[in-house]
Amino acid sequence: MRFSKLFIPTTKEAPNDAVLPSHRLLIQAGFITQVGSGIYNFLPLGKIVLDKIRKIVKEELDRVDSQEVQLGFVTPSELWVQSGRFAKYGKELLRFSDRKNNEFVLSPTAEEMMVDLVKNRVKSYKQLPLHLYQINTKFRDEARPRFGLLRGREFLMEDGYSFHEDFEDLNREFDVMEATYSKIFSRLGLDFRVVNADSGAIGGSGSKEFMVLANNGEDDIMICENCSNAANIEVANRKKRVSPYKEKPQMQPGRFYTPDVKTIDKLAEFFKIEPYYLVKAVAKKAIFENNTESIVIFFLRGDDVLEETKALNAVNALELIDIDANELEDAGVVPGFIGPGVENVDIVVDIELKDEDLLICGGNEKDYHFVGYSFKDKFDYDYKDIAEVKEGDYCFECGGKLRQTKGIEVGHIFKLGTRYSKPLNANFLNRQGRLNPFIMGTYGIGISRLEAVIIEQNHDEKGCIWTKESAPFMLDIIISNIKNEKETEYANNIYKKLLSLGKEIIIDDRKERFGFKIKDFELIGFPYALIVGKSFADGKVELVRRKDLKKTILDIDKVIEYLKEII
Ligand code: ATP
Ligand code: MG
Repeated sequence: MRFSKLFIPTTKEAPNDAVLPSHRLLIQAGFITQVGSGIYNFLPLGKIVLDKIRKIVKEELDRVDSQEVQLGFVTPSELWVQSGRFAKYGKELLRFSDRKNNEFVLSPTAEEMMVDLVKNRVKSYKQLPLHLYQINTKFRDEARPRFGLLRGREFLMEDGYSFHEDFEDLNREFDVMEATYSKIFSRLGLDFRVVNADSGAIGGSGSKEFMVLANNGEDDIMICENCSNAANIEVANRKKRVSPYKEKPQMQPGRFYTPDVKTIDKLAEFFKIEPYYLVKAVAKKAIFENNTESIVIFFLRGDDVLEETKALNAVNALELIDIDANELEDAGVVPGFIGPGVENVDIVVDIELKDEDLLICGGNEKDYHFVGYSFKDKFDYDYKDIAEVKEGDYCFECGGKLRQTKGIEVGHIFKLGTRYSKPLNANFLNRQGRLNPFIMGTYGIGISRLEAVIIEQNHDEKGCIWTKESAPFMLDIIISNIKNEKETEYANNIYKKLLSLGKEIIIDDRKERFGFKIKDFELIGFPYALIVGKSFADGKVELVRRKDLKKTILDIDKVIEYLKEII
């Protein structure tokens, strides 16, 4: 490619809403432009990178017998009604009707479409397993589209769906996909972790996310400093805590007058006791699928925090919302003094509190707490893991210290089971000659998100730094002075030779100053630049590595030999 021909509208100005480097740099370096909220155009360089990511994903998936198809982006609502997701999915699902009043949705994911495709076409266990995937546009009307390509509304996703005769085979495929996705992200040069994750609204059990470690990530993940155990904070678990304090407070069980002491801080102050020994009550209103609601009180240690996703899963609700004091009082609950004996509401107790004693909790009576409370004899409570794991807690698997870091989700694999095949009546004849719903898995990679993620993890204050397999071009040949015929001729020769060797290179043949060209090289982030400049007269050229801007001087007649190996 000749730079002089390239459509690359670079700009000095950063977009006002660009808070992340990847967002700012991809726009400034001319990879993408914004069309509207969460919608982007890909310019030539952006498209090359996108296609490279796509190609790697395809290569690795095809290697493990997944087959690429392409489904319609516009999906009949009917399928979504059948699966039960039409009502559930909320405002992220863009719904519309055509001129004949047929209703459609823009596909945010394609379980229904894929099940419909396979249904009645795969009839016997003999045709299983089957894994079909597509790399296609998705639309999600995200509440807060932001961070450029990281959270768009229209984006490119690889979504795969596998069909099996039993769970054993699904588990096998799940492991194959974990390895395949890991290989894809490794090839892209990313530092990532595979973490245990929540199954969310998609349902099913068994779910892992691929998280690229990045300070600006939206996800919190806990990783063990000792073993490979890692989990999204939404599902992270820990070894049961032991008291960090030398002595347990001694107290006789009984009511205690605690006037106006309504918070954990005040209670700790009042009794001069660590919050660890207090029982915190968090009241929420749970909204369920059938539009019913109920008040739920979650009990945890005073120094723990309720983890919303765990709490949601604990009560199997669609949503948990805050509840005000009046509503609680109307239900006969005493805000500020809620304890485990509270009536007329649902109760969930954190697993940490099971069998614990010598605690202080609300007395369910205005201005009273209960001291010396014990869970040892409370067998009927619903004990669940609902607390947020904190930095410094210990690993469930090996006892190592847990560390909290930020991650960006780039891929996700789920075991779906029959979540979609059952409601959509997608069955096959099993080995016993009986009709069974397919056992399914689903897998997804954020292709367009990856373009931003690579830069989020690889950039400096000067610009982008593309990794080997993602770079739009591996080498930028910079002719420092285009008026110097010898330099220009030499650079053009190198360019042609490397092209004939199949190398991906660009030559900066623009009539611009050297400083301008090197700034563009740094902003765009090609892995190497070959500078044909001043020292050419002495038979030397300079190779600059973008990653660390390290310079290597090369003899002009050794350049091809040298570059052949590294690019
Ligand atoms: P997130 O938690 O980031 O919202 P998700 O759990 O909704 O993602 P999935 O349904 O698992 O995402 O989709 C598979 C992949 O698609 C994700 O791992 C992510 O890389 C990508 N993806 C999801 N939403 C977006 C988006 N709004 N913009 C760009 N990529 C996205
Ligand atoms: Mg996900």
